[in-house]
Amino acid sequence: MATKKKPEHTPMMQQYLKIKAEHADCLLFYRMGDFYEMFFDDAIEAAKILNITLTKRGKANGDDIPMAGVPWHQAEGYLAKLVAAGCRVAICDQMEAADASKGPVRREVVRIVTPGTITESSLLEQETSAPLAALYLKHDMWAVASLDVASGQWKLEQGSLNDGQLLQEYLSVLNPAELLVQRDIDISQIPSGMKTWEVGDWSYSLEVCKEKLAQFFGLGDWSSLNLEAHEVIAKAVAAVLVYVEQTQKSSMAHLSLPVYQEQQQGMRIDMRSRRNLEVHCTMTGQRKGSLISALDKTQTPMGARLIRDWIDNPLTELEQIKQRQQAVQSLVDDVETRESIAEGLKHIRDMERMLARIVLHRAAPRDYRGLTDSILALPALISALQDRSGLFKPMREAMLGLEELGALLSSALVDLPPALFRDGGVIRQGFDAELDRLRTLAGDADDWLKTYEAKERERTGLANLRVKYNKVFGYFIEISKAQATSAPPEYVRKQTLVNAERFITDELHTFESEILGAKDAAMQKEETLVAELQQHITAKTSVIQAAALAVASLDVFTCFSGLAVTHQYVCPEVHGGSSLKIEGGRHPVVEQFLNDSPFVANDTHMDMRKRQFMLLTGPNMGGKSTYMRQVAWIVWLAHVGCFVPAEAARIPITKRLFTRVGAGDELSSGRSTFMVEMMETAAILNHLEPKSLVIVDEIGRGTSTWDGLAIAWAVAERLIAAKDVLTLFATHYHELTDLPETHATAFNASVTVREWKGEVIFMHQVVEDAADRSYGIAVAQLAGLPRDVVKSAREHLYRLEHDSQLQAESGKTQLGLFAEAEKRKQEESLKRLEVVESMIEAADINNMRPLDALTFLDELKKKLS
Ligand code: ATP
Repeated sequence: MATKKKPEHTPMMQQYLKIKAEHADCLLFYRMGDFYEMFFDDAIEAAKILNITLTKRGKANGDDIPMAGVPWHQAEGYLAKLVAAGCRVAICDQMEAADASKGPVRREVVRIVTPGTITESSLLEQETSAPLAALYLKHDMWAVASLDVASGQWKLEQGSLNDGQLLQEYLSVLNPAELLVQRDIDISQIPSGMKTWEVGDWSYSLEVCKEKLAQFFGLGDWSSLNLEAHEVIAKAVAAVLVYVEQTQKSSMAHLSLPVYQEQQQGMRIDMRSRRNLEVHCTMTGQRKGSLISALDKTQTPMGARLIRDWIDNPLTELEQIKQRQQAVQSLVDDVETRESIAEGLKHIRDMERMLARIVLHRAAPRDYRGLTDSILALPALISALQDRSGLFKPMREAMLGLEELGALLSSALVDLPPALFRDGGVIRQGFDAELDRLRTLAGDADDWLKTYEAKERERTGLANLRVKYNKVFGYFIEISKAQATSAPPEYVRKQTLVNAERFITDELHTFESEILGAKDAAMQKEETLVAELQQHITAKTSVIQAAALAVASLDVFTCFSGLAVTHQYVCPEVHGGSSLKIEGGRHPVVEQFLNDSPFVANDTHMDMRKRQFMLLTGPNMGGKSTYMRQVAWIVWLAHVGCFVPAEAARIPITKRLFTRVGAGDELSSGRSTFMVEMMETAAILNHLEPKSLVIVDEIGRGTSTWDGLAIAWAVAERLIAAKDVLTLFATHYHELTDLPETHATAFNASVTVREWKGEVIFMHQVVEDAADRSYGIAVAQLAGLPRDVVKSAREHLYRLEHDSQLQAESGKTQLGLFAEAEKRKQEESLKRLEVVESMIEAADINNMRPLDALTFLDELKKKLS
């Protein structure tokens, strides 16, 4: 008899496996009641990452099926951890109510959560964007389309792979949370550590791109996007759209149009230089002490993101810089306006991201309230900008047009909404008559129950009769065991407890269905009303986005003007000429963190033609690094449109900024300190171009003195020879202070110190003169080196200086012990060469037999060794 084959999996597990197979590259969050469950390897992986219990459910091929789950209402927190660990998570929801008779409920993947497509506030950093980007390479062209899904904004750029490390610099600054790439491309220019995702088909024709754009944005004519002539960008945009479509599975009505605007290349600063200058965090990874921490006084999350974007992308277009400066100046000049704008900004929330969540149906009630509060705060800003010209005019106009929506939302929403829609109570009393009626009905329940309880007590004479409610039984009457026998016959017994009996009556039952019905109906009504509000908001998406952008810019200008007033920053005169003149310059970060002593301001006078190379010497701890960084920062900030920490400044338009600052080992990439130092130096020399500013803080320190000095010398000479390049070059090699004698455009400068009672006092003053010595031992003493070691170092110093003086006096060059040996070696090898030379000259090659020639060659070889 044939045995009936037992199905290997339950119908539910079959459904799971089918959906999982379609999303093999994701963890599958499979909704079962109040939980998202994971099975098999997904469960094992997630349990490890999330530190949750691994259990089992059913069997496959005789083995237990591993299972792990998270409560659905806490899914966000778990998603954050999984995405941070580099996972992509497919959310599979139940699409209908459970009905045991029909088999497993219909389930569908409603969204794939990936690092670049997150919109939840708890998963995103407020101050930075985490865009999704696509990199498309064709021949030597590259294009990057990036989309910040949480705000709907695009950034498009293209370039040539032959243009130095431009792609690498661009990607590093953009810092996408997820980068889509073609299969098998050369990834050498993709910064290490970036999360890339290979997507299959990139062979979209221009026609397909057009179709995608038409489908997404309802565009009949795409000429306004300026993509037709830029096919590589169009393809990158299409790749982003296809990916968004595949993963988000919902209407993305908040995406702005991807319009490509060709822009003049901003100031280029490679990644190492950015790191060296501690823009976003210090070398040790701390935010405190970074430039941003000192400058960012914005009040809104949009402003915080924009100030970072502006600082990351300094301009080189003079007109644009001046427009920003004028906006800052006008707020500096008008205290009243500045203060009323600052007051208005306080009430604005992250309207950009809240809007995106509302449009995507992922919002919580507080997103609605936050957007409402933000819209209601706009009129104060609009009136503060009344009659203002320049950049403020378009900003003011962008904030108009939301008055009606603001009024509707504020009349509809309660002031303090609950955390979740399912808690109810989002819509304000008085907004909708039907909702009010249903709520009253549901709310009257308490009164009705109290009256009913009193009436039943009196009617039955049972003094401890109570009307109660629980989730399992609903409403019931509870009577103590002792009195339960006296319950009237119409009381139907439902449950027996140790001390009490529970009953239900027809009257209570009818009441219960009405009450619960009213509660459900009120919830449904509220849902409908919120959906209507959602549509009203969605219809105004582009207006809200424009207003959010205007708020962000206004916030940054207010911040810049606040810095100017509070920290006495001045408007730099940025010009197309060659001179750099800073009077009383300060370091924006160090001056804010000095507690005990005042910051010593310093001047800088340089010129790309006449005084292009400053050789800076002076003691350790004298302030050389601080000074050079402050010059770099003042030049950088001037290109952002920000005022600068100085008494006056004339800054030439600078196209590239390079820094080489005492690096550490990059052990993880197998590079020693010296190797890193040389790589940074090579990067500078290989990419120098006119109108560059170069900061070199020590070079050649990681190797032997003579190698180091020789390298420093050669690099300095190369920088002096570079056309239209300004260099500040700090060094402890005093030998280099001779450079100005042979190079007219070089000059010496040093940081001053005084010695008092055997101790050094740092003056931090930069003067135009070479330093006399390094004071290294004095600094070592200050740092706490043991007394006897300091004493011994002084003795060694005396001996070394004395020896070298004797050598100089006896006519020898100042060479150390090793150099002397090296010199002897060179002299000996020269002698040997001379012998070989004379042997060859004397040889009669024409009359040599082959064997003689061989013997002669052997002799020469022996002489040479
Ligand atoms: P080293 O050669 O050892 O690297 P340095 O000459 O580069 O030293 P800095 O690191 O720039 O010295 O400065 C040392 C400290 O001196 C700073 O941390 C700061 O506290 C203080 N300092 C530097 N410049 C000034 C200044 N202009 N005014 C006040 N304090 C300053």
